[in-house]
Amino acid sequence: MKHGLLIFLLVFLTTTLTTCAQTPAELQNALNKVSPEAIKGHMSFLADDLLEGRQPGTRGFALGSKYMETQFVSLGLQPGVNDSSYIQSVPLQRGWVEAAESGLTLIDGKQEKQLEYGKQFIINPYFASPASAISAPLVFVGFGISAPEFKYDDYSNIDVRGKIVVWINDAPKQFPSSERAYYTTADAKYTEAIKRGAVGVITMGLPSNRRSSWEGSVRRSRQGSYKWQNGQGMAANSYEALKAVASFNSEYADSLFIHAPVNLQKIAALAAEGKSQSFPLNLSASIRVKTNTKVVQSSNVVGVIRGSDPQLKNEYIVYTAHLDHFGIGAPVSGDSIFNGAHDDASGNAILLEVARAYRSLPAAPKRSIIFAAVTGEELGLLGSDYFISNLPMKGGKVVANLAIDMPFFFHPILDIVPYGADHSSLGKQTEQAAGILGLKISPDPFPEQVVFIRSDHYSFIKKGIPALFIKSGFMTVPQDTVDRSKSDVAWRSTTYHTPKDDMNQPFDFKAATMHVKINFLIGYFTSSQPAAPSWNKGDFFGQKFQQKAF
Ligand SMILES: [Zn+2]
Repeated sequence: MKHGLLIFLLVFLTTTLTTCAQTPAELQNALNKVSPEAIKGHMSFLADDLLEGRQPGTRGFALGSKYMETQFVSLGLQPGVNDSSYIQSVPLQRGWVEAAESGLTLIDGKQEKQLEYGKQFIINPYFASPASAISAPLVFVGFGISAPEFKYDDYSNIDVRGKIVVWINDAPKQFPSSERAYYTTADAKYTEAIKRGAVGVITMGLPSNRRSSWEGSVRRSRQGSYKWQNGQGMAANSYEALKAVASFNSEYADSLFIHAPVNLQKIAALAAEGKSQSFPLNLSASIRVKTNTKVVQSSNVVGVIRGSDPQLKNEYIVYTAHLDHFGIGAPVSGDSIFNGAHDDASGNAILLEVARAYRSLPAAPKRSIIFAAVTGEELGLLGSDYFISNLPMKGGKVVANLAIDMPFFFHPILDIVPYGADHSSLGKQTEQAAGILGLKISPDPFPEQVVFIRSDHYSFIKKGIPALFIKSGFMTVPQDTVDRSKSDVAWRSTTYHTPKDDMNQPFDFKAATMHVKINFLIGYFTSSQPAAPSWNKGDFFGQKFQQKAF
């Protein structure tokens, strides 16, 4: 044996043995067992018509939940809820507005103009009480954003105490994509408005940047919205200081600006340039909201592999996939069941096979690993937020999240897009795992889709916990006949969130195994690090949310 090779082997073995408890052969063995058929099997069950679209509160969801629980049992996962159960009850509140008893009136001096519900405006349910009403002057506040780190402040020259603020959905285009995504969230905007003393909100889109049609918004509003219910029986995160939150149809937005110092065209032009703006609208509004609420019982399914290190086992790495989807709705080509095969039966299937990979190792990882099939993602990331706000295990803390949600496997995978990897130390384990699997790492191909805030990983990020969300990339090989980026865009416009997202799609289950492997390896390497994952120095999300870490 040559001297150089011996040193290489010694270095390799020492680093390997100090960073993880298994040999490369044992890890390889776990990887080799990942099977495309297992993924197909889980998906075929969870996306079957029998489960009727897995809507929270339905028998279909309960069947899906039972499937995940029994799979956890057969995989040898321990109960993740108080060491005694796999089921974390998640009480949800559905709130919907009684349109006939709700209204919005514009008050111009002595003149009052009553608008038509559903035509000019809709109102969000007010969860804190069945009846809520305000009457206050209107103030325009641009995007309704205060972002000192970008020297941007729509509130800098205006006092909104006791007023109803009017803002444009969206955020300045010059913000980097993830930060822009953060500032477009209702959470960020409501929090700022409340801090400034506003008592109500009217949001509006500009014709140029509407993401969805007005008709779609009205339809969704009729179905109501959901919050999780806390121990006091109140809806969590409901921003009750805002007595009314209305959305205005941009087609009629002119009527809010009749006495404004600037016309809507000029406002749109400034918004397009990402400039801050604010002024009184010299108009008042009176808003009445009548809200109905109903409790819907749902659940997260939680299994755990206890860590093997006496200290590190109190630190948990949490894998999530959302079990819920849209249930039964308006038929498309005669099909009314929203099977959610890709969204997100696929994530649950991958999560189960990640668990199997861990269980096929000869020894448990150092840190503990939680597998959670969460509810209410489609209703606003509710199950994941409930999980992290009401931790089901006895003691310990969560140090990382890996979320799996329609990762895209319609083609062989050559590269991945790991959302979150450039924000925290998890980037290192991502590179390590991708290197072993021969996968390249690519940047976000659709920054305008604001993926970073759109799935369960964001519930963890909001609590200061580093998280990852991995999607397939679009690298092609010369023999490829389809443009993967175009086929992704096409899928989103024709199939996403429709009854067509069923098992009659050209899934590449072998490609899906890559998502099992990459998620397994990243979590495994993370579980073996001496230090828990941390945000990169000066990272925007780290700074924004770190104080909330627990
Ligand atoms: Zn979805």
